[in-house]
Amino acid sequence: CGIVGYAGARPALNIVLDGLRRLEYRGYDSAGVAIVGTELLTTKRAGKLANLEKALADEGNAALGAGTTGIGHTRWATHGGPTDRNAHPHRSFDGRVAVIHNGIIENFARLRAELEAAGVEFASDTDTECAAHLLAQALQGAVGDTPGERLADAMRAVCRRLEGAFTLLAVDVQAPGVVVGARRNSPLVVGRGVGENYLASDVSAFIEHTREAVELGQDQVVLISGDAIVISDFEGNAAEGKTFHIDWDA
Ligand code: GLU
Repeated sequence: CGIVGYAGARPALNIVLDGLRRLEYRGYDSAGVAIVGTELLTTKRAGKLANLEKALADEGNAALGAGTTGIGHTRWATHGGPTDRNAHPHRSFDGRVAVIHNGIIENFARLRAELEAAGVEFASDTDTECAAHLLAQALQGAVGDTPGERLADAMRAVCRRLEGAFTLLAVDVQAPGVVVGARRNSPLVVGRGVGENYLASDVSAFIEHTREAVELGQDQVVLISGDAIVISDFEGNAAEGKTFHIDWDA
């Protein structure tokens, strides 16, 4: 339902939570975050953002507050009830990546059966979780000069297998400093900052930080880091989004 991503030099957690608060008006049944610092940490809860914030406070994990790369999600359940385990982010079988998703992956049942046949155990009833496992599989053969480029390459491979509507964001513990996003039939906008960049389903998530935005086109993948925004199509060809300035009052 609501999606936020941040890559930069500031601690990501509060920026991501603030972004999720800005998207609350859309309605949701669960919320969660994934933060990358020296490790990849995820926390998610059914219910309001206050439940997530309480869980984060109870964990009291300093690493969660220190990581400068993060993603956050508010869920409107379509596949699997509104429970803690079905809330996003979803982790891959190897724990390496965390994925959040808006929309519906229409061919998830076939993908899930294929993954289960390969021995993958699912931790949720969502259509989304198959994307996390597929991403970890694809990373094993991904190409690129940097960990971030390999994550983008793996995301493209996953997107070529998915049917339906999706905005996806992913972080990889081996690619700290990078968030990769993708979209088909569901919106994704980049917020361009100074030494930091944002991703969101809706500009209101980052409007207090920047008004320079890039709207992704259909079937595009984007990599953001603190100082780069790299867009491609699902085949890996360089692509461009639509740059615009947000001039309305938030
Ligand atoms: N289909 C996904 C789920 O049920 C994503 C729902 C959403 O857009 O929030 O978990």
